[in-house]
Order: sequence, then C-alpha cells, then structure tokens
Amino acid sequence: MRFLQADILFPILTEPIPHGILVVEDDGRINDIVHPLISEDNHRQLVGSPMLERFSGALTPGFINAHCHLELSHLKGGISGQKGLPDFLKSVTKYRQETDDRIVDAMKTADDEMQQGGIVGVGDISNRLDSLPVKRQSQLRYHTFVEVFDLHPDMADVRFEQACQVEQAFRNHGLSTSIVPHAPYTVSEKLFRKISEHALLHNGLLSIHNQETGSEDDFFMTGTGVLADFLKSTGRYDTWNPTGISSLRTCLSRLPAINRLLLVHNTFTDQLDYQWTVDHRPTTYWCLCPKANLYIENRLPDLTTLIQEESNVLVGTDSLASNDKLSLLDELRVLASAAPWLTINRLLKMVTLDAARYFGWEQELGSFEIGKTPGVNLLAYQTIASSNCFSKDTKVTRIC
Ligand SMILES: [Zn+2]
Repeated sequence: MRFLQADILFPILTEPIPHGILVVEDDGRINDIVHPLISEDNHRQLVGSPMLERFSGALTPGFINAHCHLELSHLKGGISGQKGLPDFLKSVTKYRQETDDRIVDAMKTADDEMQQGGIVGVGDISNRLDSLPVKRQSQLRYHTFVEVFDLHPDMADVRFEQACQVEQAFRNHGLSTSIVPHAPYTVSEKLFRKISEHALLHNGLLSIHNQETGSEDDFFMTGTGVLADFLKSTGRYDTWNPTGISSLRTCLSRLPAINRLLLVHNTFTDQLDYQWTVDHRPTTYWCLCPKANLYIENRLPDLTTLIQEESNVLVGTDSLASNDKLSLLDELRVLASAAPWLTINRLLKMVTLDAARYFGWEQELGSFEIGKTPGVNLLAYQTIASSNCFSKDTKVTRIC
C-alpha cells in the first residue's frame, strides 16, 4: 500500500482537496481518499507516518488522449505547418506511401512518449494494421478507430470490406475497435450508410474529423472553395452535389444518433451548429486538438462556444505529423492560456473522466474513486499554488 500526498489532490468527480492523501494498493487500485477535514484523525496520523510519500505539486488521475494517429509518427517534423488543411492532406497522402522500417520504431517511441507523459489510454485512428504489434505490447489502453474514406460511391463496398478486415484483425487480438468515417468530405453517402449500419449493429464508438478548415462548410453549402478545388482535382467527385447545409449538419444526418460520437477539431464550428448538435444529438462529444489546430490552420476553435457547462469536451494530441509532442499537459497549457476562465478541475476532467466516459472506461479510469485503477500522475511545480498546474515549468510524471 502507498500513501501519497501533494499540495492538492484532484479526484475529478468531487472538488479538489488541498493536502488530501491518496491511498493506493500495490496493484494500483484506489483504496481510500483521506480528506484533512472529513477524516481529521486518520489524516493527522498519516501525516506523521514515515510511510507517507510527500510531493510538491498536484495529484491527478492518468490522462486519456482522445485523438491520435500512431501510424503517422514517422512523419514527425516532415510536414511544414500553417499552410491550411488541403495542403496538409496533400503532404500526408504523399508521405503515407513511404514504406520504411522507421515506421514501427517511430510508433514505439510515440507510445513510450505518451506513457512517460502520464497518458494511460488512447483513442487512435488507424487506416492500416501497422500499429497492431505496438498496441499488443503496450501498457496503454487503446481503442482503435479503423478509419475509412473514399469519395466515389463505386468504391464503398471495397473500402468497407478492407476496413472490416483491419477491424477483425485488431479484434482477434482482443483490442477494442470500431469503424469510423475520416471526414464528411471524404466519404460518399453510400460509404456513410455502410459505416452507420455497422456501428448500429456493434454499438460502435464513432469519431469523425469535423470542420477542421474554413472551406469545409463552403464545400457543402455551395460546392466552392479551396477544399472543393482540391477534392475535385482528385477526380473522384463526379457524382457529388452540395447539400446546402453545413458540413456538421450534413454528417450528423448520415450517422446514427444513438452511438457515442466524437467530433474532432471543430476549428470552424459556430454557435448555430454547436447548439443544433447539443439539442439534437446528446451523445456527442467534442474533441479539441489545440496544438494541431495552431500547426495546420494557425487558429483555435471557438472555446467560448464549445466549452459549456453541459458539453462533453475531450482533448487529443493528433499525430506527430501536426504536433511536435504527444503531450496532453502541453495541450492543456494552450487551453488554459486561451480560456483563462476555465477551472483547473474542468481542464483536467477533459483528459480524465469525460474521456473515460466516452470510451466506456469509466469503471477503471478517469477519476480517483475507491476500487478504480486510474493511474496516478504528479504535476510537479515549484511554487505552492495550484494555479501553476499548467505553467511552463510544470512537469508530469506517472508515479503509480
Ligand atoms: Zn486526426
């Protein structure tokens, strides 16, 4: 048994506890949370005990990275930033064709980097089987979103069949998985239908890249803009017509309303689309990847609109093709400075309990509650003030 105390303890489900003591069993299970005011005697005894491990900083549950592309890890530093999404997609498509021994090594390094950074669970987009051996051996808990895309309806059957094979291979190794569409503008209606039927049948988790670039809505509303030009240049949009409604409204009309859905990026989602989604599709979660957004579009989503009392907001690192690190602490740092009105507990909840609920991992991960095995992170900072949780010098270490 270990007895851990820092300046402040964040159980997440309940209010932060200054000087609270976390009692953790050898297998990582939370045995008790000792509150200095509620369990006064017990707390006093433990503080005087040599068994108490005292840290400077904050204790939080292990983090969950809601959006990553492990199989793009070898592209680190290879794609120049801030040129907009269509340009980014062109570069990734080019680099993806590389076959290289470095790919597996880069994925292992990335997996390791996440563990070092206090991450215990990951939602990972995969188009292929490359990441399977890394995931099988990893200490991290993965959910693999097998991503499928093709603009041409005639390709829907083939693409979907390929995705089913990839999904089955992950499943055969006991790994959690589901089939998801890449983005509203890269999936034909027919392919959307196949994905939706499959998701309904398997109660699959859904995820999609949403409104990542300004021209995405132009494409659906009027069929014009930079993204439309790029897509038309691929020669696969000959049967396509604009829907006259936003990208998000279009995509929600093509997906089942009952499955949990993660909308990733939302860089250009406006108040109208946000409200419509909240009103019509309560099982929707919003994933922010602030550093990737700054890298690709040099812009952050409208945080005032997206982060409401009732909204489920998660955080992802995206891939090393659009980020220099896979660090949720770094992502929280950006959010904390862009949205100073958010409490530390709310920011931490995004990378712990809210993410655990989306992935269905909340029985084990996401909060300090007796019986759970969420992992324990230490956010170490020098000055004793919880406002330093996300300061420049703060470091995260997994201590349990
Ligand atoms: Zn992505």
